[in-house]
Amino acid sequence: MSSSASAPAKPSDFIRDIINEDLQAERHKKVLTRFPPEPNGFLHIGHAKSICLNFGLGNEYSERLPGSGTGCNLRFDDTDPAKEDTLFEDGIQEDVRWLGFEWSGFFHASDYFEKMYEYAEHLIQSGKAYVCSLSDAETKQYRGDVKTPGTNSPYRDRTVEENLDLFRRMRKGEFKDGEHVLRAKIDMANANMKMRDPMLYRIRHTAHHMTGDKWCIYPMYDYAHPISDALEGITHSICTLEFENNRELYDWVIDNLIEFAKFPSRPHQYEFARLNLNYTVMSKRRLLELVEGKHVDGWDDPRLPTIAGMRRRGITPDAIRAFCATVGVAKANSTVDMAQLEFCIRDDLNQKAPRVMAVLKPLKVVIEGYPDDKVEELDASYWPHDVPKEGSRKVPFCKEIYIEQDDFMLEPPKDYFRLAPGQEVRLRYAYCIKCTDVVKDADGNVTEVRCTYDPDTLGNNPVGRKVKGTIHWVSARHAVDAEVRLYDRLLSVEAPPTGKDSEFLNAINPHALQVLKGCKLERSLGEAKAGDRFQFERQGYFVVDTKDTKPGSLVFNRIVTLKDSWAKAQKK
Ligand code: ATP
Ligand code: MG
Repeated sequence: MSSSASAPAKPSDFIRDIINEDLQAERHKKVLTRFPPEPNGFLHIGHAKSICLNFGLGNEYSERLPGSGTGCNLRFDDTDPAKEDTLFEDGIQEDVRWLGFEWSGFFHASDYFEKMYEYAEHLIQSGKAYVCSLSDAETKQYRGDVKTPGTNSPYRDRTVEENLDLFRRMRKGEFKDGEHVLRAKIDMANANMKMRDPMLYRIRHTAHHMTGDKWCIYPMYDYAHPISDALEGITHSICTLEFENNRELYDWVIDNLIEFAKFPSRPHQYEFARLNLNYTVMSKRRLLELVEGKHVDGWDDPRLPTIAGMRRRGITPDAIRAFCATVGVAKANSTVDMAQLEFCIRDDLNQKAPRVMAVLKPLKVVIEGYPDDKVEELDASYWPHDVPKEGSRKVPFCKEIYIEQDDFMLEPPKDYFRLAPGQEVRLRYAYCIKCTDVVKDADGNVTEVRCTYDPDTLGNNPVGRKVKGTIHWVSARHAVDAEVRLYDRLLSVEAPPTGKDSEFLNAINPHALQVLKGCKLERSLGEAKAGDRFQFERQGYFVVDTKDTKPGSLVFNRIVTLKDSWAKAQKK
């Protein structure tokens, strides 16, 4: 590739290197990728990595190769009729679009069932496939293992006529599930187990969500995938590392059909490392268990790493894309630290979320000497100096306010710079106040704090005065009530136990959701709309929940804390 010194650094990785080489050698005139989810569940952050890679390549190269047909297809890999559903298809499309991508072509593997069938007859006719009537258990025995070569099936030498007749009758529905399968005739002694006469078709008397009752034989992934790729003209078929051994079969299918089928492209498969994240789960089985066992509140529970869950949590698509970019595309599996995702979320929201004041665990403060009816409208900026944005609102100040319970201590340690008896603290945007007295309930808990205020300290310390702590507050008279849900990492351990389900469930972080009622928010938040994001000063980033917020009853979700509290806890 030619590159000039002044060109901006483009993200590069081994996949992009391969594509650049292919273009330079003119092996392809376009770059067409695909994202091929199975519609049997919701997408998660791991899928987001694959989406960012595949759609990202489509976007990048279509800028370089305008009008060439470069892009990325969305294809539902719907070869297993039993587990699939249109409900999942709708969810997946919504998620891909929400992440900011648009597909060039929209397909189903089932669009090609008729062609796949025709190609299978061609393989039979060229002596490359046969109908096998071994039971599942027998097939397993005949396959051998990594150290032992397999044995030929006794049905391997059926004639072309017999194979064709049986395969046609399989299609007609003359046999029961499992009675026969169609297998490729390759090599039962091949070192690659995937090449030991792999199954191409199986009988399933199950309706399909797209094709209904039309078919009772269904193609296997390893047969359907290369054909779908080739028919769409895919150039680079990118999948995760566990498909490395399938690549040989992928090539076998293409090579044995390309002349007959006149495919518009000769796609190749490339494998990259899947995304693993600590403190969460991405396995479909585990996610399903959490949802169906009601350990979480549906697929969009904000604790889950599903795209729907992260969206409801308030994470932006920009943050997810930025995260996928920092993770990069590698050839070796590894586990990414959740802190890296959280960093990307903060980095994104720092510029986007206006800063406001909210008291999550309120403690009432009465300011003595401040006139009963007086209200001062204080100017408060939404943005700190280092964010290049402007805008402010008025926060009302009056005699009774709320502060956080944590911001007051009866017997503070030496380095406690917040409110305590005899101690002074600054109220953000307002006055310095000094605690003179407390009111306790029968159990000795402080229920109210009495303070005096210094009228000379409004907004600024007079020269020579030093007050170390600044705390946030909310006017009691103007406060807006809300429920606030504090979300945290799904698991309390880095890696969930792989053993029994019960052990996995024990790894769920009991503090992953903490519900606070009666929180007091500053007046301006009364106008907040579902999906609006804010920084609650000193607390974290929050979003107005899109599902449970009703007129007059606000629910906020914590997106992420302001600092990495886990790193600190781990050091301890
Ligand atoms: P299944 O076990 O059902 O195959 P899956 O997670 O592979 O689960 P698919 O719907 O087949 O789900 O995935 C669609 C695409 O997303 C595939 O190309 C797959 O390789 C990719 N993908 C899935 N999980 C990850 C992950 N953790 N990191 C990167 N890519 C992933
Ligand atoms: Mg898969």
